[in-house]
Amino acid sequence: NVPVLTIDGPGGAGKGTISGLVAERLGWHLLDSGALYRLTAQAALKHNVALDDEASLASLASQLDVAFPVKDGQPRTLLEGEDVSREIRTEHAGERASRVAALPQVRKALLQRQQDFRRSPGLVADGRDMGTVVFPEAPLKIFLTASAEERARRRHLQLQEAGVGASLSSLLKEIQARDARDTQRRVAPLKPADDAITLDTTRLSIPEVVDQLTELLIQ
Ligand code: C5P
Repeated sequence: NVPVLTIDGPGGAGKGTISGLVAERLGWHLLDSGALYRLTAQAALKHNVALDDEASLASLASQLDVAFPVKDGQPRTLLEGEDVSREIRTEHAGERASRVAALPQVRKALLQRQQDFRRSPGLVADGRDMGTVVFPEAPLKIFLTASAEERARRRHLQLQEAGVGASLSSLLKEIQARDARDTQRRVAPLKPADDAITLDTTRLSIPEVVDQLTELLIQ
């Protein structure tokens, strides 16, 4: 029975960074489930599929040809062999991802693919519904949050580092819009699992969060 640590929460709460560091420290596999929704939206753009054409999007999602190789020490994301690492990280790509993620058939098409990431010695699963839907039996579930302002500030820094320009106020608006869509959708809305531990990272540094999580794991 391979152990799973689920890390859910809103965009910009630090899930991606924290999940990567915890997985590295434990030597476990990592599932970035948001990337699968971003890639489905990217595939739709590429193949001219409308973002409300649920059946076609579900079919794209079930046939998604993706790979996550490491090149020059950097994790890359390939869609149909093409490097889309940058394209899928913009706020617009996140916005499109949250649209396709609201469609039940798309979520269903990606379910098994996500569960297949559970391989020995363990899995850190990063997303919105890892603890509630995809791995409901996970022994340790974390819900990472931070204030919307702090998340906008972090996303701003992250985009700057990636060479993508964006204003702080527009990022805050986009984050609030995406929060609203993710928490209000009918299927798998963003919320902590009943047995999740909520960690507010607004005033915590990345190493502090990693330490707290590692401590929870050995308890
Ligand atoms: O985490 P990330 O920002 O990459 O996710 C992009 C979008 O994909 C989220 O806003 C959310 O709508 C959707 N998503 C989801 N379920 C997940 C992961 C992401 O609905 N497990």
